[in-house]
Amino acid sequence: MSGATQADILIAGSGATGLLAALLLARRGRRAILAGPAPGDGDRRTTALMLPALAILEELGLLDRLKPVSAPLRRMRIIDGTGRLIRAPTVTFNAGEIGAEHFGLNIPNGELNAALAAAVAAEPAIDWRRTTVTGWRIEADGAHAALAEGGTICAGLVIAADGRNSPAREAAGIRLLARSHRQAALVVNFAHEREHAHTSTEFHTETGPFTQVPLPGRRSSLVWVVRPETAQALAALDDAALSRRIEDRMQSMLGRVAVEPGRQVYPLGSMLAERFARDRVALVGEAAHVFPPIGAQGLNLGIRDVRDIVDAICAHGVVDTILADYDRRRRPDVLSRAGAVDLLNRSLLSGMLPAQMLRGVGLGLIGGVPPLRGLVMREGLQPGSGLSGLVSGLRKKVRR
Ligand SMILES: Cc1cc2nc3c(=O)[nH]c(=O)nc-3n(C[C@H](O)[C@H](O)[C@H](O)COP(=O)(O)OP(=O)(O)OC[C@H]3O[C@@H](n4cnc5c(N)ncnc54)[C@H](O)[C@@H]3O)c2cc1C
Repeated sequence: MSGATQADILIAGSGATGLLAALLLARRGRRAILAGPAPGDGDRRTTALMLPALAILEELGLLDRLKPVSAPLRRMRIIDGTGRLIRAPTVTFNAGEIGAEHFGLNIPNGELNAALAAAVAAEPAIDWRRTTVTGWRIEADGAHAALAEGGTICAGLVIAADGRNSPAREAAGIRLLARSHRQAALVVNFAHEREHAHTSTEFHTETGPFTQVPLPGRRSSLVWVVRPETAQALAALDDAALSRRIEDRMQSMLGRVAVEPGRQVYPLGSMLAERFARDRVALVGEAAHVFPPIGAQGLNLGIRDVRDIVDAICAHGVVDTILADYDRRRRPDVLSRAGAVDLLNRSLLSGMLPAQMLRGVGLGLIGGVPPLRGLVMREGLQPGSGLSGLVSGLRKKVRR
């Protein structure tokens, strides 16, 4: 197409994954165009990012700015808060058990996005067009993206970081497996009377998890997964009533609770792309996979997508080879996480006795068998490291 700006790489979408992809590529010496609006300051969520994701933020020089506004996660506890006949035992994961100081940091999304956006804006190798893509055409000579601000970009390769409704994914003809569980998340931050001791507590309930995650000081963030109509009803409560409901649900383990302004409701669902790359387009983040917020998987996985597409770009020169390599790298990680989250979520929602027994036995084994607990913790941080950790632990025992 005449008049189009030519680019080797176009990144569509300027959420956390799009900004990270642009930055990582730039730090590896690659130029890219990034198309997406500057992030707003309306996202009240916080994100628990685990050690491998933090290593990438460190590599980009962003961690020092984020540490003071974030809280380390030293312990993660799962409590069966269902009133069901068969209840799973409480399981506590301690970072110290796998020789780590903490599992990760709970970072406010507003702070994370602002730090990423400032770093991208300061990077000369990134041409950031603060606009949206209004139309796509994938042709033999490149992927053509029409911009809302005017003009077209013709790119050899597109990193689609344009979220769950990804127009770039649609243009590449990649189909989705989607499932709705009729769940929504109420998100709110709150102050509390007692110390949280850097412990996150996930209560499993019949409608989904209720997850408290520490913030600096005597403050925590909450993601409360319930039916969509319950989320709206909770969000409409006055501060005192909502604070009481949260304190009751937590069995007063943090003492008196006082919610902070700015509650939000997020509709939830599961979506999985049938493949992660095709026709010049590689999917990262929620363009590739969307999960309910159980076990802090979403953005951690999205950051591993970004790492793998950048590695594939740096390893190969030919677009088709890059895409094939990326798809192959992402399959085991994404499919295993999607399966585990879906299984856990469905075992909560299911009133069937066998599902409850399975969950009870599974969590019982994890809680009662330290090597298995170590495996789950390592695997939660870094795919593939759980089994190798278990094997080396067993080797040491055999030697002794
Ligand atoms: C309640 C809740 C709690 C969560 N907690 C955690 C957690 O603790 N840990 C964790 O790892 N994950 C968590 N997640 C998941 C995490 O929030 C997501 O994985 C992450 O936000 C996805 O980022 P993304 O960049 O892929 O997509 P998005 O943040 O959706 O970004 C997409 C971007 O694309 C842009 N865009 C869309 N269309 C276009 C277009 N046509 N042209 C250009 N740009 C476009 C949008 O403006 C947006 O900026 C949570 C999710 C929820 C709902």
